[in-house]
Formats: sequence, structure tokens, C-alpha cells
Amino acid sequence: MWEIEFNERQREIIDLVQKHGPITGEAIAKTFNLSRAALRADLTVLVMAGILDAKPRVGYSYAFPDFIVKDRQDIFHAKVREYQSLPVILEENTSVYDGIVAMFTEDTGTIFITDADGSLTGLISRKDILKQTLGKSELHNIPVKIIMTRSPNLITICPDDSVLEAARRIIAHQIDSLPVVEEKKTASGRTIIHVVGRFTKTNIAQIFLEIGG
Ligand code: ADP
Repeated sequence: MWEIEFNERQREIIDLVQKHGPITGEAIAKTFNLSRAALRADLTVLVMAGILDAKPRVGYSYAFPDFIVKDRQDIFHAKVREYQSLPVILEENTSVYDGIVAMFTEDTGTIFITDADGSLTGLISRKDILKQTLGKSELHNIPVKIIMTRSPNLITICPDDSVLEAARRIIAHQIDSLPVVEEKKTASGRTIIHVVGRFTKTNIAQIFLEIGG
């Protein structure tokens, strides 16, 4: 694979044609306050590189079909539920020791913690566990609820939110993952925060790869 580096004017031409194409060479030249001849070299480079199509009497248009550009932007509006991973969940009285074991066996960096009804109450990450292991505490006897980051400090996302919004929250709060949650009523009538998924930086990397084709 090879890459072409376009100069600033060439990038501005691409931008203009994307927005206003098909557009004649004269109209492009007018926008830049230049003569048609002064732009000829740049336009030739862009046509030869396959970025612009040139049609007689029509002018220049962007060579990539609309649907490709649109498809790629649509990914950002895809729903979290389409990309989320399976959550790893433990009950809040589970020991920190078993939390560590679960991190290895389930190959995850974050574990979501729920109460006996299955309502999200907290989460533990690698750092939370490392912090605990620095002390001389007995990891078998300490429940994860002691060390977890707890509600209402949890940053969550809903399955129908966009992946772009999920990425924003991950970056804004400098965290690795978000519990994907929805409200649910238990048999006893209690409304709980039900964890239905996990949205992580890996999911973002997956989306990034799809955009790159
Ligand atoms: P790591 O510990 O592997 O670096 P994070 O950067 O995700 O992972 O976690 C850093 C801290 O942020 C931890 O204390 C963790 O409990 C907390 N944290 C992680 N995810 C969330 C979240 N979704 N909402 C609130 N706090 C979180």
C-alpha cells in the first residue's frame, strides 16, 4: 500500500468538491481567486490519484461514492448494543481474591458488582485490586464491595445510546469500560439497574478497524 501526501491547497480542493461537487474548474479557481491554469497541476494530481472524477461539461466530483462515506459515518451512530461485549459480573460479597481469579479466567480488566437482586452497585478494575494488594490485607476475607468504585459514581451507558457517546464518556472520564445497563423490575416489584453488557476500549478499536476497512 502507498500513501500520497496532498498539499494544503489540494486538501482544500478535495473539501470544496466534497461539499459542492460536481463543480467546474472555473468555479474552483474562482473560489481560490486563482486562474484556471494556476490550479491545473493540483487538479491533475487529484484526478490521477483517483480522488476526484473529471467529466467534460460537468466538472469535478468526489470519486468515492456517497454510500461509502455515509456508511463510515453511520458507524458512529451505531448503537452500543451492536458492539458491546459480555459483562463479567460478581455479587458484592465475593472476596477480592475470587475477583482476581475471575479477572484472569474471564480475561477482563473490569468486573461489575451487583447486589443480591442483580442490581449494579459498583465495579472493580485492575488498579482497585492492585491498590488492595499493596497492603497486607487478607484477600480471601475482604469482599469486593469494600474496594469497588460504587454507585452513584458509576459512569454507565444504555444499549440504545450511540457508540460515539460511549467513546466520549470513556475518554472524558479516563476509564477503560462502561457497564451497559437498563432498568428492570424484579418479581418483587423493585426497579434494579440490570447489567446487559460491557462497552470497552477494545470495542472502540474494533469500530476503528471497521472504519479503516
Ligand atoms: P485500570 O484500573 O485497569 O487502569 P480503569 O482506568 O478503567 O482501569 O479504572 C481506573 C479507576 O476508575 C478505578 O478506580 C475504577 O474503579 C474506576 N472506574 C473504571 N470504570 C469506571 C466507570 N465506568 N465508572 C466509574 N468509575 C470507573
